[in-house]
Amino acid sequence: MEMEGWVSMPKVELHAHLNGSVRDSTLLELARVLGEKGVIVFSDVEHVILKNERSLTEVFRLFDLIHILTTDHKIITRITKEVIEDFASENVVYLELRTTPKKNDSIGMSKRSYLEAVLEGIKAVNTVDVAFRPHNADVSNVKSSSLINDTCNGSTRKEIYVRLLLSIDRRESTEAAMETVKLALEMRDLGVVGIDLSGNPIVGEWMTFFPALKFAREQGLYITLHCGEVPNPKEIQAMLDFLPQRIGHACCFEEEEWKRFKSLNIPVEICLTSNIRTNSVRSIEVHHFADLYNSKHPLVICTDDSGVFSTSLSKEYNLAASAFGLGRRGIFQLARNAIEYIFADDEVKRELKEIFNSSEKKLDQ
Ligand code: 5GP
Repeated sequence: MEMEGWVSMPKVELHAHLNGSVRDSTLLELARVLGEKGVIVFSDVEHVILKNERSLTEVFRLFDLIHILTTDHKIITRITKEVIEDFASENVVYLELRTTPKKNDSIGMSKRSYLEAVLEGIKAVNTVDVAFRPHNADVSNVKSSSLINDTCNGSTRKEIYVRLLLSIDRRESTEAAMETVKLALEMRDLGVVGIDLSGNPIVGEWMTFFPALKFAREQGLYITLHCGEVPNPKEIQAMLDFLPQRIGHACCFEEEEWKRFKSLNIPVEICLTSNIRTNSVRSIEVHHFADLYNSKHPLVICTDDSGVFSTSLSKEYNLAASAFGLGRRGIFQLARNAIEYIFADDEVKRELKEIFNSSEKKLDQ
């Protein structure tokens, strides 16, 4: 199928990191400005931004660079707006965007003001109607609350649901992680639905984050964990014991871990290009997608970092279809199944099902 077919299909994105999804053109523009100010040497960072193949270690070095480029509130607002517009432009109808609230005293940034800048970005989106507040929240300044129109295949204006997950970075302390969880709780009415644990998987200990994650779950926030990006049986075990609502990646599980994971039926966010580029999985031929798909394990195809890995959700659907022999219907069904794994209320699920039902009629045309 041509790319256009994947682009026009409604899609659900559940694993996208804000700072990993920034357009290359925006990063280059920001780098040029910082270069002119003498903060960085543009020629040193240009090739880092444009490089395609990166190991997992290099990816985390790139994130450190991106974070220098996207430091201030205005830029956070800008990239949030652009990332949502980019996802909407390829007919992502539901987006769970995750980001790590950052504190930077030198520019007066607190975790709260970082998140407020993200929320400003959501409100600034103007190429698409955004529904970002839960149905039960005070909807006095909701931008758009109902999306039951046909979002794909030629209706007037695109629409997208956006929910936020706040990430805890594995470099953080228990106190910092707890601050993130408390912020998420305060911002629930503004579309924050859950907590993610991410960051360099060879840094930090599970027990550092456990108290904050446990508290988050007790308070009713949803939890997704980056799990098994590197071999670490003890941590994988502890994470599965925790019973998160979803996990990301699951690349380095041993047989016993697969057995347990499958019996728990925890949905997994699969990021094909990311896993291959970072060498977390040797090649697409041996990717665990095939086994999970054949065992009917709940899974959702995601981008991870569409900017860093030069991908898009349409490209990931295309890759899964060609690598694993799935047709248009198979991929459509996977996207529709993902509605069951989203961290939003039943009303959103119902409306998304309507979108998929109306789009299904056009699948075979
Ligand atoms: P941000 O949270 O700053 O918006 O997005 C970038 C951050 O997401 C990175 O610094 C890192 O903590 C996390 N991240 C992005 N991609 C990956 C990934 O593939 N694996 C892990 N473990 N963390 C990631």
